[in-house]
Amino acid sequence: MSRFWSRLVSTLDPYVPGEQPRIQNLVKLNTNEHPYGPSPRVVAAIAQANSDDLRLYPDPTSLVLRQAIARRESLVPEQVFVGNGSDEVLAHAFQALLKQERPLLFPDITYSFYPVYCGLYQIFHRTVALDDALVIRPEDYLQGDAGGIIFPNPNAPTGRGLGLDALERIVAGNPDVVVVIDEAYVDFGGVSATPLIARYPNLLVVQTMSKSRSLAGLRVGYAMGHPDLIQGLDRVKNSFNSYPLDRLAQAGGVAAIEDEDYFQRTRGAVIQSREALSKGLCALGFDVLPSLANFVFASHPKRPAEELAAALRERGIIVRHFRHPRIANFLRITVGTDAQCGQLVAACNEILG
Ligand SMILES: *Cc1c(COP(=O)(O)O)cnc(C)c1O
Repeated sequence: MSRFWSRLVSTLDPYVPGEQPRIQNLVKLNTNEHPYGPSPRVVAAIAQANSDDLRLYPDPTSLVLRQAIARRESLVPEQVFVGNGSDEVLAHAFQALLKQERPLLFPDITYSFYPVYCGLYQIFHRTVALDDALVIRPEDYLQGDAGGIIFPNPNAPTGRGLGLDALERIVAGNPDVVVVIDEAYVDFGGVSATPLIARYPNLLVVQTMSKSRSLAGLRVGYAMGHPDLIQGLDRVKNSFNSYPLDRLAQAGGVAAIEDEDYFQRTRGAVIQSREALSKGLCALGFDVLPSLANFVFASHPKRPAEELAAALRERGIIVRHFRHPRIANFLRITVGTDAQCGQLVAACNEILG
């Protein structure tokens, strides 16, 4: 607290990112990073962009990157917005599209950055409880009282997802407000809502290169939707930072989108490892939610999650634990390499005796 802070800053309750400790040989399964490196073509493109041209500002519109994304998704560049990680894209969406008279709706158990943006931008919101299986019930979002809707699909940290019919019910049932679908994890088995963009001008789909394209360190996120929504995001972006993506990020992002083969192989490997990890944990008595993401959400009937997380940490393995009462007994465990997953299962076996 400082007398120099604005009134708003004194009221903020900022997001706390998963820790990034600098400890050697740590098995880091706490922030849903990809276990394999980015495509070699990405590394080469960044090396090439690392030149005298860095004295020049980057393209403020990131046009080449937006063209590459549009091509892959069968859209036009006017339907694509890019930002410094999808967190920035989401922040702009909250300010440009989701701040309305009526409340913004999102699940009670979800990405914990959403309430933080509401605090920053003073957005009135209401949380909607997931069902007992921790799944979103579409009908809860069809009450006609929403000023906007946002949820991840698959949801975080549960890993549970909705199919295209359920997504369309929510989007079609709210024609006068924007529905933002945060698809940070969609490439690990979820269903993307992008095919609905052509028919629903109120739909904004947000994706990121941080998870399925192994580029959390490059900070590239994007949104896809009707050009009017994209223009709204652009107005906020151009009132905030003209150059959110530097030259290296734009070059690396293009290469990542274009290396489809590497993307398919590495996401497939993570999906396979996830299934093996889920089986290993189930065999130890864990209840593991069926996951469509690059993490599993698991609880053990005999041992509090917080205690397990502490015991794993003593063995050099870090996972994520959330204090929200409904999920306080769950651990969110990122899918690592098969070797890392094996270490985790072995450590749990030892801890559980
Ligand atoms: C990781 C994550 C993001 C943010 O990703 P960026 O690294 O900022 O692109 C957004 N939404 C959800 C649900 C996430 O898990």
